[in-house]
Amino acid sequence: MGHVPWNKGVKYTKEQKSKLNMDGLSLGHNLGEKHYKWKGDFASYSALHYWLARQVGKAIYCSYDKKHTSTRYHWANISGQYKRDVSDFMSLCPSCHNKYDKIAQRGWATRKEKGGVI
Ligand SMILES: [Zn+2]
Repeated sequence: MGHVPWNKGVKYTKEQKSKLNMDGLSLGHNLGEKHYKWKGDFASYSALHYWLARQVGKAIYCSYDKKHTSTRYHWANISGQYKRDVSDFMSLCPSCHNKYDKIAQRGWATRKEKGGVI
C-alpha cells in the first residue's frame, strides 16, 4: 500500500468552500449575494417577533391612522436595521405596512421567500 495524500479525492461542499473563501479573505462572491443585513441582531424573523411580543405585546392598532381597522396588525421596523429597541418599531395595519415597506424599498426576507405573505 502506497501513501495516499490525506486530501486526495476530497471534495468540498459548497458550504465548506464558502467558509474557506471567507478564511482566505476572498469575500467577493459572498458579499455579492447577501450585502444587506435584514435581520440585525435577531437570529430570525420569528425570534424578532417573539422578542417584540414579550416587550410590547401584539400590535393592536395602526399607528399611521387609528381608524384603520383590521383583524390583525403588524409591527413594522422603522430604521430598517431591526434594532433590539422597541422604539424602532411601530404597529401598522397590513395595508399601511405594505405601503411603508414598498416606500422604504425593504421587505422582510421571509416575506419575499414566501411570495408576499407574512
Ligand atoms: Zn393603516
